[in-house]
Amino acid sequence: MQHSVQHILQELEGLYSKSEISVLTQLILEEVCGNSFRGITTDKIKHLSGSERWKAEDIVRRLKRGEPIQYILEKTEFYGMPFVVSPDVLIPRPETEELVEWILAGNRPAGCSVLDIGTGSGCIAVTLAKKMYGADVYAWDISKGALKVASENAFLNCVNVRFSLRDIFQPVDTAPFFDVIVSNPPYVTESEKTTMEATVLGFEPHGALFVPDTHALIFYERIAEVALALLQSEGELYFEINREKGLEVCNILRSKGFGSIELRKDISGNDRMVRAVKPEGHG
Ligand code: GLN
Repeated sequence: MQHSVQHILQELEGLYSKSEISVLTQLILEEVCGNSFRGITTDKIKHLSGSERWKAEDIVRRLKRGEPIQYILEKTEFYGMPFVVSPDVLIPRPETEELVEWILAGNRPAGCSVLDIGTGSGCIAVTLAKKMYGADVYAWDISKGALKVASENAFLNCVNVRFSLRDIFQPVDTAPFFDVIVSNPPYVTESEKTTMEATVLGFEPHGALFVPDTHALIFYERIAEVALALLQSEGELYFEINREKGLEVCNILRSKGFGSIELRKDISGNDRMVRAVKPEGHG
């Protein structure tokens, strides 16, 4: 019987591209050999021990069902930092790294207060807490399971984030406080489901992804209102958006009273993020 990782991964041909298989090989070897890739010799690639082979086969079996490798290994990377993930949270996306990059480019003074609404894995909040000097970061989510994962990620990255279980559609009673509010809310419409990959549809939390076609921007409407109440004057609101909805999101922000509205594309050339400023003297 063959004991090489290549042999085990042969089963994935057709399901994944060659380059994906080579990344998967590296990740699986790191996992089953409990070693950093640099420490893994070609010998290891060729000869796995019994228990290593068993673990690798189990991972491959799950990959064949379409389960994302990040959920299988219960971890990923975001902005060069380690994050744990579970099916309670979306797997952080590269587009969201671009949103974080935009926020960080603001070079704000130390001690900024920041709120992430619908934090999920905490990837935005934890990264901002790590990279914005002296920032005071708050993060809300409606899901207890997500907040548990997000808290683990704050711990893992040695930052302090104040998490709370909040339903954004309930009244907010806080006075204007934040310098920056950011959100990557659910924005995929039900009718877009047909174009989504099975790995996303079958495994990622639908509550974090989908909105009804008839109320596709319900989170943006509500978060814009909440942000007007919670931002200090000249505070900024950042959104990740559905690429089809750039102009509509800008119109919502304008109609609520925001100024300096800017729509940006992601690296793939799709409208993907918006920034707006609460004008001085508003409310
Ligand atoms: N960008 C994610 C996707 O394409 C969706 C994220 C979201 O709904 N906020 O699956």
